[in-house]
Amino acid sequence: MSFTLHGLPVSAGIAIGQAHLMSHATLEVSHLVISPRMVDKEVARFEAALARVRDEFAALKGRTQHSSAEFGAFIDLHSMILSDPELAEVPKDLIRERRCNAEWALVQQMEVLVDQFEKFDDQYLRERSYDVRQVVERVIKELVGQPGRMALKSSKGLKEENLIVVAHDLSPADVIAYKEHHFAAFVTDVGGSTSHTAILARSLRIPAVLGLHNARQLIRDKEVLIVDGTRGVLIVNPDARILDEYRLRKTQIELERSKLRRLKTARSVTLDGVDIDLHANIELPGDVANALDGGAEGIGLFRTEFLFLDRGDMPTEEEQFEAYSTVVKGMGGRPVTIRTFDLGYDKDLHPEKVLGERLQSNPALGLRAIRLSLAEPKMFQTQLRAILRASKYGRIRLLIPMLSQAHEIDHTLAAIERAKSSLRGERAAFDEAIEVGAMIEIPAAALAVGLFLRRMHFLSIGTNDLIQYTLAIDRSDEQVAPLYDPLHPAVLMLLAHTIASAEKVNIPVSICGELAGDPSLTRLLLGMGLRQFSMHPAQILAVKQTIMQSNCTELAPIVRRLLRHEEPAKIREQLAKLNG
Ligand code: PEP
Ligand code: MG
Repeated sequence: MSFTLHGLPVSAGIAIGQAHLMSHATLEVSHLVISPRMVDKEVARFEAALARVRDEFAALKGRTQHSSAEFGAFIDLHSMILSDPELAEVPKDLIRERRCNAEWALVQQMEVLVDQFEKFDDQYLRERSYDVRQVVERVIKELVGQPGRMALKSSKGLKEENLIVVAHDLSPADVIAYKEHHFAAFVTDVGGSTSHTAILARSLRIPAVLGLHNARQLIRDKEVLIVDGTRGVLIVNPDARILDEYRLRKTQIELERSKLRRLKTARSVTLDGVDIDLHANIELPGDVANALDGGAEGIGLFRTEFLFLDRGDMPTEEEQFEAYSTVVKGMGGRPVTIRTFDLGYDKDLHPEKVLGERLQSNPALGLRAIRLSLAEPKMFQTQLRAILRASKYGRIRLLIPMLSQAHEIDHTLAAIERAKSSLRGERAAFDEAIEVGAMIEIPAAALAVGLFLRRMHFLSIGTNDLIQYTLAIDRSDEQVAPLYDPLHPAVLMLLAHTIASAEKVNIPVSICGELAGDPSLTRLLLGMGLRQFSMHPAQILAVKQTIMQSNCTELAPIVRRLLRHEEPAKIREQLAKLNG
């Protein structure tokens, strides 16, 4: 049966392939023998997880009154499986008799049931083993709380280029692992369009759609899928006509991309002769090749925290020095902007090891980025020393995330001075005049930008967080994704104010958030006075093409008029004219 799901388009392009389901039940659940006095507690934990999933199914059922009957029937089936004594009771016996932990008991019983289903001759019954697995996965997820990195299911014997990863959720650490694979695309049930998962999807240069709600439950392994990452559409089991149509569209997109490649060595300059810097955002030293291939004239944002994500401990100074040096040398004299760790929120190493007691209930507003670095001076000094040491190989600029207060800037600059002075003591070479810049990604920083302009060499606007904090919209939450609006007048006011203030005092300012890579916003930003953009490498040529067809002198007064509007419809209308 063919059906279509709609989600958030986060990485453009079209992929056609087979579903490759990733699940948390493929995780090795821990096998623990619990002490006799813990047995009752473990049974209660199991029952509580079942109850939470039961409630979730009931809520889903309530919400599906208005959607398809199919989905309603599907939820009914899963509720039945969940309540079946084979799943709801037998694991409790296993916990009591064999004293295994709840997850292990449940997975053992799941394997027994799946075995029974797979022996049926009837195809319908055989396929119910999928449903058993899916229900168990839901319960396991409840039991283990927030899942960590997902185990990559083996794709042995299958060509990864033909596989489309389907998952309920992928953490940034999961996606980083995909850099070593060649999947055709991925889709998930949850996630926002500027979540770090989405950002990584774009850096993988494969189509991706997030926020599909129930894809993971509705899709079966090996079903044929079309992912349209440009429109946010997923088609399951398409018929031959639709397949042909999408094959054609895929070829057209590839043709357009190859045409754009001709601009790789073209100068990034507007029609009225204004040079625009186009830099790349990277996560790993291995991304340097992509950045150069995309025509980047420098690295505008190296998100260093991704280097070490999920490895379980802090990287040593030598390991970091190695990584930073590789990037600087790879860029062959072009500027490299290295951002100090932006850990916390959705990016933790091994949270319990690194953050220890510091885990928080509201991490986006908690000890994240520079706040964490200042609270962990040893970790910060190690990173600063490694970056400074790498600066002897080329032009490094140091970028500090999430600053909002004057005293944070002062403490940061003092920490940099300490790192420099320790290196001087060791007679280690580094760039004494290294430039230090601030990310402007908190509304307070954008409003009081003078604090930064007086203390810093350059600014880089992080629109992903700036929008999140201005509009109070969690960038990773697909439920509020429609409210995440880069064109909200408040966002535009903050951008225009920051850019104009920096221009007045001659301090370079760039944008390194996802906005910078959206060609439909390039003219708006040029008109605001922006002259430096940093984006994931795959976007550089499309933005360059728009720049080469734009005239800054003409854009400035039009954008000034656009910025006087507060009505979203008017802003959109003016933007359409600007791009027309
Ligand atoms: C941003 O917030 O816009 C940014 C560039 O940083 P990150 O996406 O890593 O938070
Ligand atoms: Mg940010």
